[in-house]
Amino acid sequence: MSVDSVEKKGKLVVFSAPSGTGKSTVARMVRERIGGLGFSVSATTRAMRPGERDGVDYHFLDRETFEKKISEGGFIEHEFFFGNCYGTLLDKTMEAVDSGRHLLLDLDVKGALNLKRIFGDRALLVFLKPPSMEVLASRLEGRSSEGPEALKVRLERASMELSQADRFDFVVVNDHLGETVDVVAAKITQFLSQS
Ligand code: ADP
Ligand code: 5GP
Repeated sequence: MSVDSVEKKGKLVVFSAPSGTGKSTVARMVRERIGGLGFSVSATTRAMRPGERDGVDYHFLDRETFEKKISEGGFIEHEFFFGNCYGTLLDKTMEAVDSGRHLLLDLDVKGALNLKRIFGDRALLVFLKPPSMEVLASRLEGRSSEGPEALKVRLERASMELSQADRFDFVVVNDHLGETVDVVAAKITQFLSQS
């Protein structure tokens, strides 16, 4: 691979956070501010939430289709949690990276660390922390997207995810939304401007 082709390659910005911290909200606002940062649409077997669109928020697949894709090597990484499968599509991601487009990915901590192993310094891992577990619980409840049991499972997983924060390149407490977007956007702009 020539130096030219390395320079032309796109970079990956990966967001992780315990569910309910505000990752999707911050990601959307950061993308509105930084032009040319596409969103990597993952595949999932979970049910669509009100307001979500197939092919925009996720590619919503049934279990059989998801498993067939695994066996065909269709994912860069995939994980099972919350009773569902989530995965990053290999072809879409490599298509973007090979043509020099930058992508923002929203992944759980294991998926994020796997991508870092593959892409090294071409990937920036951003971890968002909630101000406290109480605030996290109230944001999840406020979103009203999960029933009490699913909500409990998401909160239980949060401690494991928080314990991995120091393995990320950049960690921010998402307290005041405007400030979070300011510091995260500045960090990403700096990352994307480096060769
Ligand atoms: P995630 O993608 O991490 O699961 P969401 O982006 O869906 O989380 O955010 C969960 C809820 O918290 C949403 O209702 C969102 O509007 C709210 N939220 C996000 N960031 C903040 C913040 N800094 N302060 C208060 N509420 C927030
Ligand atoms: P949600 O069901 O709230 O949309 O997402 C649950 C979790 O799945 C979030 O932590 C999100 O970052 C993660 N996630 C979404 N897509 C992927 C993916 O392709 N791979 C991995 N490993 N995690 C994902």
